[in-house]
Amino acid sequence: MSTSCSETGLTKRVIIVGAGIAGIAAAREICKDDRFNVVILEASNRAGGRMFTRKIDNTPVEFGATFIHGAGEHNVIYQLAKHYGMISDDRRENPEMWDKSTLSAVLTNGEAISSEVVMKYWNMFSNLADDIEGTNNSSTWASMYNDLYSYLVAEFTKRSSGDALDVAKTPPYVKSMFDTFVNWLTISEGGNHCRGIGINGSYRSLPGDREVRFENIYSYGYLIQKLVDTLPDCIHCNTEVLSINTENNPALITCKNGCQYEADHVIVTVPLGVLKKRCLDENLSPNEQSLFIPALPAEKQIAIRSIGFAQVGKVVLQFDQEITSKYSLLPLMILWRPDDKHDPVINKKFPWANELFLLERIQNSNLYESWVTGSAVACVEQASKEEIIEAFTYILSKVFKHHIPKIVDVHMHKWQSDPLFNGCYTVHLADVNTSANITKLREPLNNNQVLFAGEATTEEYYSTVHGAYLTGIREAKRLMEFV
Ligand SMILES: Cc1cc2nc3c(=O)[nH]c(=O)nc-3n(C[C@H](O)[C@H](O)[C@H](O)COP(=O)(O)OP(=O)(O)OC[C@H]3O[C@@H](n4cnc5c(N)ncnc54)[C@H](O)[C@@H]3O)c2cc1C
Repeated sequence: MSTSCSETGLTKRVIIVGAGIAGIAAAREICKDDRFNVVILEASNRAGGRMFTRKIDNTPVEFGATFIHGAGEHNVIYQLAKHYGMISDDRRENPEMWDKSTLSAVLTNGEAISSEVVMKYWNMFSNLADDIEGTNNSSTWASMYNDLYSYLVAEFTKRSSGDALDVAKTPPYVKSMFDTFVNWLTISEGGNHCRGIGINGSYRSLPGDREVRFENIYSYGYLIQKLVDTLPDCIHCNTEVLSINTENNPALITCKNGCQYEADHVIVTVPLGVLKKRCLDENLSPNEQSLFIPALPAEKQIAIRSIGFAQVGKVVLQFDQEITSKYSLLPLMILWRPDDKHDPVINKKFPWANELFLLERIQNSNLYESWVTGSAVACVEQASKEEIIEAFTYILSKVFKHHIPKIVDVHMHKWQSDPLFNGCYTVHLADVNTSANITKLREPLNNNQVLFAGEATTEEYYSTVHGAYLTGIREAKRLMEFV
């Protein structure tokens, strides 16, 4: 039995499960109050969770969270990054001044699309995405269209010439650009395909540049370290929680490494993918026990089952030198020609690869990142490095007409297969009342004996770092007001 939580006097023992940003935010807040003694139990060997940076060739590479979504006073993460001197460029806070015209596009046969054409369509797509923001807008569109995909197809067709998606009447790159945009939106919304994503989600975008990247030595890993440094030595890594038993008070937390902890309050921040696997009866194998003893109430289980959890894959390619090409590589959209989509080599050897659509250089390095969605994620997570290298070499050789340097390594974190995550982030599925389910998910149990934080527990900012951070603060405050 570990006794690292004080068991004497009036001090309340708080166990936080998970050292992602939600758990760290909660701990920072609670540690301000000396009525509490806090311990964070983290299953892996590091803090940060889905904020995961590794240095490759001296360049910080983000394997999880990549952007700060929203620059300015409203974004707590942007503010923290500014506080730690990680962001110097205030232009990002001013929509008029940040440069959005840095996209380039090339067809899979190497033909470049002019930047005017790229930006014309990209602006049209961006407006489509912006137009579903806001409660009134989204409910209007939701009454007209089943899901995001049917909205995009119908509204894009209306707003362009009327036959923009008809490849017989318009240059096929328009349809390819549309498909690329759908993939891009799928990743940012977090679904497997826009077909299944709902329109009337409760998510709210924050003002300012929506995709701020860290530069130079800075990264999400750097930010996490700064935040961890403000905490007392309270994070116990390599301590996976097997069960949280609330049959008695205090609760008893049993860990895989044999440690047990007693706690007056437990804040659970594990990813939704873990809750899905470890709390739903139908997903437990006969020799597995539920994360909670007794099992969670039925309505909480329904909420966990209903909220979508997205699978996204980010592949980092390491070349032996930079790609020199006439295209600006920040970022490059790969537009599939119909013939290439059915290329027999791709179809036979690596069918997942015809979902690739983006290549972006990481700082000034020889590292380039690409994203995959949908069923391609499982395939790429199962593929060998050799297969991934062969697939990218084959496709990029077409795109760059054979002028590509050698891919020497491939790096990725397999979020879908990692049992501490089982996926990437929350998604609002069509036909699901995500907001109501999130409200249900975050309701505390047993008079605040168990509280729930983490990105999946915020209606407005799910799937983001700032959202997750705010949930940690929310539950810490709930506890501090309660005790
Ligand atoms: C590929 C990818 C790209 C992303 N891109 C962005 C982006 O650009 N911008 C953005 O804002 N957000 C992005 N996100 C989402 C963002 O990373 C998350 O919303 C946020 O980091 C979640 O924080 P959290 O604290 O809720 O959960 P997590 O960070 O997942 O923390 C939960 C912790 O619980 C631990 N854990 C799990 N099970 C147990 C157990 N049984 N016992 C103990 N510990 C356990 C895990 O190891 C983990 O450390 C991205 C995520 C991914 C995966």
